[in-house]
Amino acid sequence: MFNYRRCSNFTWNGTLKDLGNRYGCGERIRPVMAAPSSSGLEVLLTTLQDAGDMESTLNILNVLDELLSAGTDRRIHYMISKGGSEALLIALVNTAHTIPPNYTLLLPILHLLAKVGHRDRRIGVKAEKAEAVLLMLGLLRQNVRDVRRAAACLWVIQVFCTSVSTATLLGKNRGLDVVFRLIPTHTTKHIRTVKAAIDALAAPIAQMSSRTGADVVSHDNDQGKANWDVVTCSEVDMTFRNTLIRAASYPPKSLEILQCSVDYHLDHLCIYSTALHIEVNCRTAVSKGYISGLLKLFADWHNNDTDREHLLIQRALLHCLHRATNTSLGRSSLVAEGGIAILFQTTQTCMFTRGMESLVEPAVQLMRKCCPKCPLPLASDMSVYRFPLPGGTLSNCESTPGTQGEGFEDDSDSDVENEDAENRDYEEDLETDLESLRQRPEPDRPLEQLGQYVRLCPELHHDFQELDSGSESEESSDEDSLVNGDSGDRWLKTGRGSPRREPGVSVQTPLSCTPRNGHTPSILRGEGHGTPEEDKHRMKVKDLHRQCLSSHEEGHRSMVDRLLEKFGSCIPHHDPRLYAAAAANTSSIAGYSILAFPDFWGHLPPPGPEPMAIRRPNVQRKKVLEDIQRFLCPEDIINKVVFDLEDPSAQCSSDHKDSLRFFSQFECGNLRKAVHVRSYEYDLILNADANTSQHHQWFYFEVSGMVANVPYRFNIINGEKTNSQFNYGMQPVLFSVREALEGRPCWVRTGTEICYYRNHFQPNSCQKDSCLYTLTFTVTFQHEEDVCYLAYHYPYTYSALQAHLQMLQQSVDPRKVFFRQQNLCNTLAGNACPLVTITACPSSRTWKSLHQLRNRPCVLLTARVHPGESNASWVMKGSLEFLCSSDPVAQSLREAFIFKIIPMLNPDGVISGTHRCSLIGEDLNRQWKKPDPVLSPTIYHTKGFLYYLNSIGRTPLVFCDYHGHSRKKNVFLYGCSMKETLWQSGSSVDTATLKEDPGYRTIPKTLDRIAPAFSFNSCNYLVEKSRASTARVVVWREIGVLRSYTMESTYNGCDQGIYQGMQLGTRELEDMGGKFCQSLLTLRKSTMLYDSKVISHMALLDDSLMDHKSHNCFVDDEPPCVEEIEYHSHVTSDLPGNDLDSEVNANMSSPENDNMDKDGDKQMPRCHGNDLKSRLYPHLCRPDSLESL
Ligand SMILES: [Zn+2]
Repeated sequence: MFNYRRCSNFTWNGTLKDLGNRYGCGERIRPVMAAPSSSGLEVLLTTLQDAGDMESTLNILNVLDELLSAGTDRRIHYMISKGGSEALLIALVNTAHTIPPNYTLLLPILHLLAKVGHRDRRIGVKAEKAEAVLLMLGLLRQNVRDVRRAAACLWVIQVFCTSVSTATLLGKNRGLDVVFRLIPTHTTKHIRTVKAAIDALAAPIAQMSSRTGADVVSHDNDQGKANWDVVTCSEVDMTFRNTLIRAASYPPKSLEILQCSVDYHLDHLCIYSTALHIEVNCRTAVSKGYISGLLKLFADWHNNDTDREHLLIQRALLHCLHRATNTSLGRSSLVAEGGIAILFQTTQTCMFTRGMESLVEPAVQLMRKCCPKCPLPLASDMSVYRFPLPGGTLSNCESTPGTQGEGFEDDSDSDVENEDAENRDYEEDLETDLESLRQRPEPDRPLEQLGQYVRLCPELHHDFQELDSGSESEESSDEDSLVNGDSGDRWLKTGRGSPRREPGVSVQTPLSCTPRNGHTPSILRGEGHGTPEEDKHRMKVKDLHRQCLSSHEEGHRSMVDRLLEKFGSCIPHHDPRLYAAAAANTSSIAGYSILAFPDFWGHLPPPGPEPMAIRRPNVQRKKVLEDIQRFLCPEDIINKVVFDLEDPSAQCSSDHKDSLRFFSQFECGNLRKAVHVRSYEYDLILNADANTSQHHQWFYFEVSGMVANVPYRFNIINGEKTNSQFNYGMQPVLFSVREALEGRPCWVRTGTEICYYRNHFQPNSCQKDSCLYTLTFTVTFQHEEDVCYLAYHYPYTYSALQAHLQMLQQSVDPRKVFFRQQNLCNTLAGNACPLVTITACPSSRTWKSLHQLRNRPCVLLTARVHPGESNASWVMKGSLEFLCSSDPVAQSLREAFIFKIIPMLNPDGVISGTHRCSLIGEDLNRQWKKPDPVLSPTIYHTKGFLYYLNSIGRTPLVFCDYHGHSRKKNVFLYGCSMKETLWQSGSSVDTATLKEDPGYRTIPKTLDRIAPAFSFNSCNYLVEKSRASTARVVVWREIGVLRSYTMESTYNGCDQGIYQGMQLGTRELEDMGGKFCQSLLTLRKSTMLYDSKVISHMALLDDSLMDHKSHNCFVDDEPPCVEEIEYHSHVTSDLPGNDLDSEVNANMSSPENDNMDKDGDKQMPRCHGNDLKSRLYPHLCRPDSLESL
C-alpha cells in the first residue's frame, strides 16, 4: 500500500528537487527540471499532461491532491494560476480518448478537476477550449449505470457550467436530457449521485436564469442565440413528455426526484423563453403548477423523511425553489400556491428538531424573498417639511434628482453605505493627480469681500482696558449684540416665506445657583417623596408636562417653577429656564412651540459606561418569522395609525386607549408616522430630510400611555443603510420623565432583541430595486403611564447649544479668559450660527503681552454639519468646557492658541430633526469647494473666514471638523497626506522626492495614548476624489492647513482600550472633546511656560510607555454579521467548495466495486480529514511503485 503517512506530512517547498529527494522522482522527470524558471508545481503539471506511465501519473495526481487538500484555497488558486486547470483538462482529454478509457486514471482526474474547477472562474471557457465539454457529456452517457463514475462526471459538468456559454453548449447537445435520464437509473439509495445530478442540473439552469435573455444574447452573441433558438418551447414540452414517460417505469422515490428535476428544468427553460419573449409558454409553465409540484415534493419529503436521512435532498429541493423563484412570476406563483404557509409550517418543526436546523435558513430566506413587497403607508416619500428656496430659482429638489443623487452617493467623510463597494472602488477613488494634490486653487471669491470677517477676530483688536480698570466691560463689544440672533437677516432677506417665530419667553437671567465647578452635583429631590400627595402631583406632571413645556402658554412659567422647585436637579452647565429662553428664540420651519422634556430638564450621564447589548442567537430569524406571520395571519393585525405628522387627527382621536401615544413635534424630533400593528408592536416611519425623500436614520420621539413591565416591539421600517451598528451591540437611548422626577434625569441605553435587517417594505416611489431596512428593538418600560423619549443617540439641540454657550460665557473669569460668542451668519431659517473665540487674556496691557496674544496660532474647530450626528455635539461640548475650565492644561492651551469654534454648522438641520442635510436638501459637507452664499451660508462664511485668516497670515495650525460615524466603533481621525495617498493608490509618482511635513500624524499619535476611546489604527490620511468637497480636504488643499481633520466618533462604543465592549455615553464623548484639545499641547511645548501640572501632563503625552491599551489589537471593524441582513436568494445555490470536496472525497473512499451495493452509500459518509485522505487511491499504489517512481 501507498504510505499515506508520509504523504500527509508532505510540505511543498516549491522545487521539484526537494520533491524528488523525498519521493525518489525518477529519471523521466529530471530533464524537465532543467528549465530553471519552472517551479516544481509547473514541472508536475507538465509531466501530468504528457504522462504515458500510469503509475507516475497516478502518483502526480496523488501528490497534487495532497497538496490541495492540506492547505487553504490559496494553494488551489496558485495551482490555477500556474495552468493547473488546463493541465488537468488535457490529461482528461488524453486519457478519455484511449480505447477503452482508463477509468483507473480518469476517476482521480475527474475528482481533482471538480475540486480545482470549482475554484476556477474561467473553467468553462478553458474546458471549451480543450474540447472537454462534449467529451464529458459522452463520458457521462457511457457511465450512467455506474454511480461513482456518473457522480464524478456530474460534478465536473457542474463546475463547467459556471460559464454561460458552456451551459448553453451543454443545453444545445441535450446535456440536460442526459442528466435527467441519469436520475431515474438509480434508486434513492445512491443519494450522493442523485444529488450530484440535481446539482449538475441546477448549475446550467442557474446560469440561464441569472441573466436576462438580452444579456445572454448580447453576451454570448451568436453561440448563445443560436443555441437558444434551438430550444424552442415545443422542444421543452417534448423533453418533459419523454422524461415523464421514461420516469413512469421507475420506483416512486425516483419518480419524485425526476418530477422535481423535470419541473425545475422546464420552469427554467420557460423562464428563459420569457427572456426570448415567448411569454405565453412561460405563463403556461407556471400555470401547469410546477412550483406547486416542487412545494408538494418538499412537504412530502419533509413529512416522510422521518429519520432525517435525506436532508440534503430537502435542501436541494429548497434550492430548486430558490431558482424557480428568481422571477416575479415564480415568486407570485409560490405565494399563490400557499408556499409561504408550507415553508412556515415546516420551518417551525425544523427549528425545534435537532439535526434539521440546516433547513431553516434556506426556508426562511425563501419566505423573505417571496413575501409580497408592500409599499410604505405614505402618500409620498418626500419629507413632510418643504423649504422654499430663496429667490425661487429652484422650485424644489424633486425636480433635480440628479443633484441629490450626486451629493449623497458617497455618504459622509466615512459613512460608507456599502463596504464591499468601498473596498473595490477605494483605490480608484484616491486622488492620484499630483497637481491637484499639490496645487492650491485660486480663492473662490475676490479679496475685497474678506473685509467683513475682520469683526470675527475681536481678540486682535481688543484693547483689554478692563485689565487696567478692573471693570467687566466685555459686553461692550459691538459684535456681541449679534449673539441673540436679532442682527441676523442682514445677509439674507430674499423674499422667501420667513418662518414664523414663536412669541416665546424673553431671555431670562440664569439661575444664580449655576454650578461652576466640575464635580457631579447632588440631585435635589422633592419633599414628601413617595407620599400619595406627591404621586398625585406626579400624575399631574405627566399629564401636564407637555402643556407646561409649551413655550407660548401663558402662565406656564409658574408651573415650570413649581416643577423645578420640587424636583429640579443641579446639572452642570444646564439651566432649564435658560434653555426655555433660548428655545423661544429658535426658529423652526415646523413652527415648534413645545419643548421635549429631556432637553428642557437636562441630562446627567449614568454612573458608568454601559456595556454593548448582547445579541442572542437567531434574534433576526425570530423577528423575520414574526414579520412573515403578518402575511399569514392578517386577522391578527390591528394596523391603526396612532400618530401622523401630516394628519393631526390621527394623534388626537380618543379611541387609542389601548395604544401607545406618540409625539415628535419638538426641536430635533423625528417621527413621521406610527402604526399600531399588533397588541404590543408598532411600526414607525421616519421623516426624510427636508426637501428630500432620503436619509432616514435619526429619530427622536416621545411615547406615553404605556403599561409597565410589558415588552413593546418597535420597528423603524424605513431604514436605508445596508447595515448598522445596531447589529453589533449598539442600543438606542431612552429618557423617562418619571425617572427624571425621581432624581435620575438620564438618557440611558435601552432595548433588547435589537437587530437591523432588510424588510418587505419598499419606498412609495417604488424604484424597482430599492428596498428598506427595519431597525427593531424591544423596550420594557419601568413605570406605568410614564412619558418617555426614545432617540437614535443622545439628543443635543440648537437651543441647548445656545443656552450652553451663555452659561459657559458666564462661567469664565473675564480677566483671565477671553470668551466671545459672535454670529458667523444667519441660517436660511433665520437662526444665528455662533462662532466662539476662546483664548487667554494677556497678563497685562504691555506691548509684549498683547504682541504674544496676537501671535498665537489659531485652531479652528467645527461640528455638527450633519444634524443626525449628535455625538459630535457632545464631543464639542467637552472641548468647549475643557477650554473654559480652570485646568492648568486648559490654561496653557489658551495661552498657546486662539481657538475659533463653530459648534454647529447646520443649526436648521439640527432643529428640524434631519439626519444629514440642510433645509434645501443638500449635504453641507459636500459644498466646501464652491459654497453658495445664499443656499449654504454657514459653509460660505466659514470658508470666507478661513480665507480671511489666510490673508492676514494667520492660517490655522489645526482644523478639525467633528462628526459621528454610524458604521464603525471607536473615535478616530481622517487627515490628508499627499504621500500616503499616492503611495496607497499605487501611483507611479516617486514619493521619495516629494517633501511633506509628517506633522499630520502627531495629534492622532498623541490621542491614541491619552484618549481611551481613540483608535490610531482606525485613522487614515488619504485624499479621496469623492471627498474633494468636504471640509477636511478643502481646508487642507485650498487653505493650506497641514493638520486638517475629520474626527469621527462612533454612535456605538469601543472594541479596544479600557472602554472595550462598552457603549460611549455623553461623559465619554465629552471627555474625548477635552482630550482632543489636550493633544494640541504637543504642538506647542517648546514655547510654553510650564507649571508642574502641565509638565506632568506633557510627560504623559511623551511617554509612550504610559499606554493604556495594547497597540497590536488591530481588527477589522466588524466581524461578519452573525446573521446576514440581506435576502440571500442564492443562499443554497452553490455548493460551497468544501462540501463539494467532501462529496468528492467520499466518492473516492467507497470501494470501487460498490456500484451494485444496495446500501453502500445510503448515508453520505462525512469527510474525516486525514482518515479520508489516507483512503484516497489506496488500491492504486503499491509500496514498490513508489520505489520505482
Ligand atoms: Zn458626518
